[in-house]
Amino acid sequence: MPMFCVDKNDRPRFGHQVHDLEAGCVRLPVSYFQLPIGFHPDWEDAVKEAHEYYTDASACSCCKVTVAAS
Ligand SMILES: [Zn+2]
Repeated sequence: MPMFCVDKNDRPRFGHQVHDLEAGCVRLPVSYFQLPIGFHPDWEDAVKEAHEYYTDASACSCCKVTVAAS
């Protein structure tokens, strides 16, 4: 089960992005801006958790694709 985090930065157009910490995502912010949201079985569950912190949180298209392809 992958560990997820949500970006504390509010990205223009994207809002707060949820990242899979094991995906090696190129858009992952530096650790200072990573808010850990724990282990989740899938993206739907991780984004749901992220919504507890940021209502505009959404899955990062970059690492979500990486995980789906592996
Ligand atoms: Zn990502």
